[in-house]
Amino acid sequence: MIVTVKKNADEKSLNQLIQSFIAKGLQVNDSVGSDYHILGLIGDTTVLDEKSIKANPIVDDVTRIAAPYKKANRLFHPEDTIIDVNGIKIGGNEKIVVIGGPCSVEGLDQICQLAKDVKDAGAVMLRGGAYKPRTSPYAFQGLETEGILDMVEARKQTGLPIVSELMDSNQLPEFEKYVDIIQIGARNMQNFTLLKAVGKSKKPILLKRGLANTIEEWIMSAEYIMASGNPNVILCERGIRTFEKYTRNTLDLSVVPIIKEKTHIPIIIDPSHATGNWKYIEKMSLAAVAAGADGLIIEVHEQPECAWSDGAQCLKPEKFKHLSEKAREIAHVVGRDL
Ligand code: PEP
Ligand code: MN
Repeated sequence: MIVTVKKNADEKSLNQLIQSFIAKGLQVNDSVGSDYHILGLIGDTTVLDEKSIKANPIVDDVTRIAAPYKKANRLFHPEDTIIDVNGIKIGGNEKIVVIGGPCSVEGLDQICQLAKDVKDAGAVMLRGGAYKPRTSPYAFQGLETEGILDMVEARKQTGLPIVSELMDSNQLPEFEKYVDIIQIGARNMQNFTLLKAVGKSKKPILLKRGLANTIEEWIMSAEYIMASGNPNVILCERGIRTFEKYTRNTLDLSVVPIIKEKTHIPIIIDPSHATGNWKYIEKMSLAAVAAGADGLIIEVHEQPECAWSDGAQCLKPEKFKHLSEKAREIAHVVGRDL
């Protein structure tokens, strides 16, 4: 970190500032030029708060050189993290995982039938929401515990591990007991209490990118989970809010190489919530695989027009099957398998 000090700074305040950095275990290189007086801070600057340093009247400016995250940082963990979910590996150069299932669990028969369909189509995991973050309080809110137990039965019948969204830490014991991957939805990406709670778990956490969050904010949320003790994080890009109206969100595929460069964490893509339209999902899935994503999570429904949530972005099982066959071809082109 570089702290630019005002030329007329008094000796006493300057010494106090330098000592405050030394007390935090940092080395301070003090250089006085003809125009600038610079303090170069060497060491673990993640503990520093730039805004407080800037509030010091003798400070002109503060520039962070190192990223504010440590555990997620590839610099300190050069090898890819590979997450093991009941023997299925996510990340590194492992097979690209395809996760399919409805937006919401709608009942035992529905989820068990869909589990069989997505498995036949090439999915290796089942998704399904039992606690739903709906914009309207009058919209279907999810089957809650009953939905989770229906997913458990679908897993029993197909062997597919199950992914479901956790909205409140009160539900954590239930998720610990039944769910294989705990999803933290876009709307909760910066619910720091919830992030710390799942950080106490050992379950893999699928952390979706917030609707309007920068990549650094997203990585910092992963850092929260990791700093609380859970290294099993998988990131999921699901589109961000922009001015564009022809899609529900804008799929930011540039995150794939960026996340791979800055972190060692696996990243999967959700083209369903990103586009909001079943017509665009296959193309965006192929692009995601070509970009180097470690997996896809896709909403599938037997009768999208009757789905209890997100019908417009659900693929019918046969379309989902076509998608996963095509995605396999692209995976081979980029030296992966699926
Ligand atoms: C979902 O997966 O159904 C969901 C609500 O996702 P997101 O948090 O990305 O909107
Ligand atoms: Mn959905």
